[in-house]
Amino acid sequence: MASYRIVCTDQAPADKPPSHQHIVNVGTGTNPIRADKRWSLQQVLDAMDKGDTFYTIGERSGKRAEVDKYWCTPCGRWFIRSHADAVQDNNLDNLPRC
Ligand SMILES: [Zn+2]
Repeated sequence: MASYRIVCTDQAPADKPPSHQHIVNVGTGTNPIRADKRWSLQQVLDAMDKGDTFYTIGERSGKRAEVDKYWCTPCGRWFIRSHADAVQDNNLDNLPRC
């Protein structure tokens, strides 16, 4: 069981209405400007199911936010997002693109 810091994401528009975006790939590593490892969404979900955890750290705030999986009802599948207590700069949606 391991813990990984997500430093970048790629998003793509969902193929189901209403119009929204989902994270489809992430990069993890200790250096916030260069990911050591790229993961597909499915690889992240599989790792979470095995007990691995993912988090972000805000570059300015220094605050850590956990990353959770959640069920998107329109899409009918699992995706990932920051825990609800995330602040601006550690929100998964605000990380740089990979
Ligand atoms: Zn969706």
